[in-house]
Formats: sequence, C-alpha cells, structure tokens
Amino acid sequence: MKKRKICIARGDGIGPEIMDATLRVLEACGAPVAYDEIKVGKAVYEAGHSSGLEPDAWDKIRESKVLLKAPITTPQGGGYKSLNVTLRKMLSLYANVRPCVAYHPYVFTRHAKMDTVIVRENEEDLYGGIEYQQSSEVTQALKLISRPGSERIIRFAFEYARHYHREKVTCFSKDNIMKLTDGLFHKTFDRIAAEYPEIEADHMIIDIGSARLADTPEFFDVIVTENLYGDIISDIAAQIAGSVGLAGSSNIGRNYAMFEAIHGSAPDIAGQNKANPSGLLLAAVQMLVHIGLNEHATRVHNAWLRTIEDGIHTADIYDTYTSTRLVGTSEFAGAVVERLDEKPRKLTVVDYAGSGTMAVPEADPTPRAEKKLVGVDIFLDWDEENRDAGRLAGILDNCRVAALKMQIITNRGTKVFPDGFPETYHSDHWRIRFATDDYAEVSANDIIDLQRQVLACGLDLIKTENLYLLDGEPGFSLGQGE
Ligand code: NAD
Repeated sequence: MKKRKICIARGDGIGPEIMDATLRVLEACGAPVAYDEIKVGKAVYEAGHSSGLEPDAWDKIRESKVLLKAPITTPQGGGYKSLNVTLRKMLSLYANVRPCVAYHPYVFTRHAKMDTVIVRENEEDLYGGIEYQQSSEVTQALKLISRPGSERIIRFAFEYARHYHREKVTCFSKDNIMKLTDGLFHKTFDRIAAEYPEIEADHMIIDIGSARLADTPEFFDVIVTENLYGDIISDIAAQIAGSVGLAGSSNIGRNYAMFEAIHGSAPDIAGQNKANPSGLLLAAVQMLVHIGLNEHATRVHNAWLRTIEDGIHTADIYDTYTSTRLVGTSEFAGAVVERLDEKPRKLTVVDYAGSGTMAVPEADPTPRAEKKLVGVDIFLDWDEENRDAGRLAGILDNCRVAALKMQIITNRGTKVFPDGFPETYHSDHWRIRFATDDYAEVSANDIIDLQRQVLACGLDLIKTENLYLLDGEPGFSLGQGE
C-alpha cells in the first residue's frame, strides 16, 4: 500500500517525547504513513522567524496537506506571532473540533456521562485582531461575522453530527445583545438546520448555555459556536471531562488540516519521561480518520481505551483507586501497542470503519443585497465643556447636508442626547448619528460634505460608519435607549 505523506512537528518541551510515543503506536498498528518533519517553535522563533515556522515548512505542508503538531513553547516578550493563529489563518483551517469525553470511572470527573464535541469557528469574530485606540480613554476591536463563514462552520457541525451518528447540534450565540453579528450566526444556524431534519437543532444564549454545559454536560451532543465563545467553552468542556491532558483537537480546512493535543509544552516535566502522550495520540486518531485510514484509527483508539481501562496511567491521571500501574511516556505507548488487538470491556468501543471520509458542501453563494445609503455615524474624540452632551449637540446643530439631520448622540453605545440620564458616565468617545427622516437615500458626497462641516466646527473626527438599508432592512443597530 502506498504510504500517505504527513508533516510532523515535534515542538518544544514534552513535544518530542509525546511525538515519539505517538509515532511508535502508529507504526505498530501498520498505518501506511510517511513523515516529513518541519521545525516549529522556540528555536525557530529565536532564529528570527517571527511566525515560529521555518520558511520551507510551508512547501512541505502544501505538499502533504496534513500536519500532526506537538505543542510549542511561545517565547516570552513581544514580537512573536502565535504559530497556531498563523497556521489556522494562512491555511484557512476554519473548523476547530474538540471532542470532550469522560472516561469514568478510570479518569476522575464529576460528569460521568459527558460526551460532547465542541465545533468552534476558527477564522472570524474578534480574532481578526483589528483593534484601534483613537481617544485617550477608549479602545475598540472589530468583530466580523460573515454569512459564508457562519454557513461553513454550521454545515460542518451538522455534517459531523451526521457522519458520527450524533443526534443533536446546539448553537451558542449572544444575539439578544449583538443582533447583527450574532444574529447572523443564529439565523444561519436556523437556515442550515432545516437541511438536516434528522438531527435535533437547538439554540442557547452563550451565558446560560455555558452555565448549563459546566453543570450538566450530558445535555449536549455537538455544540457549534463562534471563535471567542468556542475558545472559552472548549477549555471548560475539556477540563470538566477530566481530560485536559487527554484531549486531542483538529483544525480542518477545505484543503489542509492540523491535528494536535490541547495542552501546552509542559516545560516543568520536559525530558523526564513523565508526560501523558494521550492528547497527541487521540489527535493522531482524528488524523487517521481524516486521511481515510479508519481501520487503523479504530484499532489505535480501542487499544488506548483498553489501556486506560486497565489502569495503566501516567502521573497526571494516576489515582490510587482506579490506577493499577504508574507508567512513564514510553511505557504508556508500549502498553497501547500491546493492546492493539484488544477492545475496551466497559468503556464504549469505537468503530470508524466503513464510515468513509466526511465531506462538507460549499457555502451557498450570498445573494447581493440592494443597498441604500441613509446616513452616517460620526465618531468624535471630545473632552471639553464638562463632557456635556447637550453642549456637543449645540456645537453640531448647524451641521446639516441635504436631508441628513442629527438624530441621537451615544457614548459607548448608550443614548446621552436627547433625553440622556445625568447618571450615565461620559467617556471621551462619542457617536453622533446623522440620518434622514424615513430613511430617504443620500449620496456618498453628502456624507463627505457633512464630515467637512463637522471638521469646520473644530471637532476631532476619529472615524465614520455608513448607515445602509440592505433589501429594506437596517444594517445598523440602534443605540441603547434609542
Ligand atoms: P501546559 O499545558 O504546558 O501545562 C500546564 C500543566 O499541565 C503543567 O503542570 C504541565 O506539567 C501539565 N501538563 C500539560 N500537558 C501534560 C501532559 N501531556 N502530561 C502530563 N502533564 C501535562 O500549559 P502552560 O504551562 O500554561 O504552557 C506552557 C507552554 O506551552 C507555554 O509556552 C505556552 O505558550 C505553550 N502552549 C502551547 C500550546 C500549543 O502549542 N498548542 C498550547 C498551550 C500552551
């Protein structure tokens, strides 16, 4: 059988030990894979490559399309970019998948029945890193949620559920507050869910959803959510499963995929043959399934479950009640190898055989909306006249172009004019909404003329946002209290 080439990165700290252990198991199970090693991590950063990757690594990854990566140590201090963020963004690895499973009673957890998969969007949201400071007091970050990005990750979650015979997909968002961005994610979820009638679909607001997840994780099957929420809840979910050191994750894109353990490089135990290689090994199982070596994945996963069940444990999960033998990294790998023809007796046996590989349909093309310009939000850095909103309104009173009129002033999103509350704190960051009555159309030149008038008042105009109707619906939120 022709060997499938994959890239491997040994990383830092415990990385080389757990990679050796993982490759030993893959070799023993006869997986037809060949390795192309790339260098990543601390030494590469310190050699002056700010991405943490050697320049020729990209060519190797492009050729094999699959990367099995051990954790790296991110050097302290500025100037270094996160290797994971770079890999996810440059290779468009849009889906982060993290199965969080309890191995009760062999690994301690308060949630014996937990078996939840977190599917996290990996490219959008606040992780664009588009941030600004334009006044002394206020900083801001741009949250970007796209229709194709949402559709792709939500379809992925439903396809995953279908492929792995799961029954329910729950969407977490905060669309009661972020009606446009999270609203788009939720609406897209409802639209795509209708294409999978055999799978139960459910939506929860992220805060109560997370509380429920921490309390009763067995209520959840597959959870799909945006990047930031997913980042947080996937760590919570792994922790309460009792298995941070055991969990593997995959980062999947249309053309490339990366597999890794969720823990870091554990420098405190590096080089001591103490590390648990399970996270990377289970990531490698996900990789085998991804490249279609389902039978090998099944063998390795069942052998691993049997090892855990037999109480052969590394120090991080060793417990006098359930463990029978304390082992180091290489002995643990040896124990898995010895059990390659065995299955767990009490834990659930896995079977990837026959399930093929998972295909996710392309996102539907977004229909072009009919756009109508109806106003502009003008942002000012203003720190005069006791920050009196009425005074600012007076200064702006003469700024009028065409049918554009000042409608409202907000400060950090809260209405402060007209009819503001004296109790509301006023920062130095102001938003003045100019719009037409009845949302009549204005031109881009009208907006520019208006900005000239604002500047002529001696005000510090720091940014603007155009207000559009898209297919007749406002493409902007109202101020709190508006
Ligand atoms: P860590 O996950 O490396 O370690 C936290 C604790 O868990 C330590 O006590 C460690 O000994 C233990 N631990 C972790 N993995 C273990 C394993 N497989 N077996 C046994 N014990 C294990 O987190 P940290 O200490 O916050 O970070 C260390 C370094 O790892 C940092 O430089 C950080 O930036 C990096 N990191 C890398 C990745 C990655 O490459 N994906 C992820 C997280 C952290």
